[in-house]
Amino acid sequence: MSFTDLHLIEPLLIALEKNKYTIPSPIQMQCIPHILNGKDIFGCAQTGTGKTAAFALPILQLLESKKNPEVARKVKTLVLAPTRELASQISDKFREYGKNLTFRHTVIFGGVSQTKQVAALTRGIDIVIATPGRLLDLMQQGIVNLDAVEYLVLDEADRMLDMGFIHDVKKILAKLPVKKQTMFFTATSPANITKLAATILKNPIHVNADPISSAPRKVSQKLYYVQRPNKTALLTHILKSGHVPHVLVFTRTKRGADRVAKQLNSIRIKAEAIHGNKSQGQRERALQGFKDKSIGVLVATDIASRGIDISKLSHVINYDLPEVAETYVHRIGRTGRAGESGEAISFCCAEETEYLRDIQKLTGNKMEIISKHPFA
Ligand code: ADP
Ligand code: MG
Repeated sequence: MSFTDLHLIEPLLIALEKNKYTIPSPIQMQCIPHILNGKDIFGCAQTGTGKTAAFALPILQLLESKKNPEVARKVKTLVLAPTRELASQISDKFREYGKNLTFRHTVIFGGVSQTKQVAALTRGIDIVIATPGRLLDLMQQGIVNLDAVEYLVLDEADRMLDMGFIHDVKKILAKLPVKKQTMFFTATSPANITKLAATILKNPIHVNADPISSAPRKVSQKLYYVQRPNKTALLTHILKSGHVPHVLVFTRTKRGADRVAKQLNSIRIKAEAIHGNKSQGQRERALQGFKDKSIGVLVATDIASRGIDISKLSHVINYDLPEVAETYVHRIGRTGRAGESGEAISFCCAEETEYLRDIQKLTGNKMEIISKHPFA
């Protein structure tokens, strides 16, 4: 399938060609026809799936096809994004995709003087990309009028909620015309997100797209920076917190697995190591103990862990980061199975920062850094 097959207009196709886009991404294939058809969208997709073009291209096309001098230079499209970086990136994309069209767009975010933003708005603007706080501020000052909005996009809605923007978002939404087309994008869909989506979308089309090499959707990923000699102490600290009663711990080497298990047992945390040097019987006993939860901690190398089927694993800990980034994805894929949520905790020492970079490149940097711990 090509962009031409999606019935995009020439000015957009030329811009895409300039950008060297040849094949639409899955989320673009799924969204573009529906948006052109006037449908609301609930899109669940991670970073790097090409969401911006999925909504920006059809919106530009709709604006072009319905060009109406009466609403020229009034805000007809509003895009809300959680951070200034994201808002700026979306704005850049509107510039690229829309460069053979005549629409004006501007980006609005806090932390800078509002003077330029106000000037752009008063000159007249078709498309506004904004973070919620500053936009609401400008609305309350009477500087921005959203009465003519026809297209609304909420990008990275889950992050907007996580960042505490829910009240601002709701206040903005309350000021928009009831009749509009809404596109809602989120990387995760916990209850508060589906609830919010239900209140603002009308018969939405649901689309899903995971980047090929991505972490499973429901796994939260945490990262602890720690010096190598303190890793076991940090592991003990986490296990003793009681939040992680049942966990698969990955080490890079067999020796490492044995050492970690031994140290845990010495402080009366029940742990077993499994790796290629253990007999079949030993491995089966360890695995059985872990499955029936008489053993809380299973320490394994990647090879030994292959094919182990433990359902509903709530936690994995990467005591050592893997050298190959894809291995990280496989490891954390062991949690959060079958719709259950999971947590992957990774330790990174100075010698492992290169592995970390590769992992973040592959997975789109989804890790939350935990800086408050006794071994930071
Ligand atoms: P998301 O919002 O899902 O994180 P973006 O819209 O930012 O994704 O797109 C991610 C990257 O992929 C951008 O650099 C964008 O230019 C590029 N991209 C998007 N769609 C295509 C495509 N169809 N072909 C090639 N590159 C694309
Ligand atoms: Mg995006």
